[in-house]
Amino acid sequence: MKSKNEVINIIKILKKTYPEAKCSLDFDTPFQMMVAVMLSAQCTDERVNKITPKLFKKYPTPEKMANASVEEISELVKSCGFYRNKSKNIWLSSNLLIEKYNGILPEDIKELENFPGVGRKSANVIMLEAFNKPQGIAVDTHVKRISNRLGLSIEKEPIKIEQDLLKQIPKEYLKDVNHIFIYFGRDICNSRKPKCDICPIKKFCDNNIEKKEKKR
Ligand code: SF4
Repeated sequence: MKSKNEVINIIKILKKTYPEAKCSLDFDTPFQMMVAVMLSAQCTDERVNKITPKLFKKYPTPEKMANASVEEISELVKSCGFYRNKSKNIWLSSNLLIEKYNGILPEDIKELENFPGVGRKSANVIMLEAFNKPQGIAVDTHVKRISNRLGLSIEKEPIKIEQDLLKQIPKEYLKDVNHIFIYFGRDICNSRKPKCDICPIKKFCDNNIEKKEKKR
């Protein structure tokens, strides 16, 4: 765990490094955000952004999506991994949205977590991107890796990592962290070969390769 000051410094440095950091999924409505997030599991945001224009043109609302068949949805999303399962979940979620919520996505993380294909991580992304109400941290592969390396959490399970992060990150920075960790993970603290030599936050890192080598 880090001190509050250390965490704020880490966030400020990364914000300066990635001033452009934001969600890279394209969408117009909260419903479309939910669908885009569902498609993005095990798939790149770039690919999802290539798929969704046609999908949202044909089925822009939960009503239209629910009236399509799973096969029709599959046809439009088949270049995405696990597309059969995702199509089924999109269809089920659209139906649930109409039956239980009158077609309006609830602004409540617990309710969102109950939609087929939407877990805690996706619900966090939807709360932040669709409603601008960050509730927690969406712990994806980048956030998990960076949290472990920096020493913000020694946990492996996303839900426990998120709990550790929420103890250390002041609420006003939740939005930033969700974005900058992803940019930082793609750019510098990547999975195979982190670029510790150019890392702007290396002095805060428990896994800084340079620091470890000096100790030897
Ligand atoms: S010093 Fe290396 S391991 Fe640590 S956060 Fe920076 S890039 Fe990642």
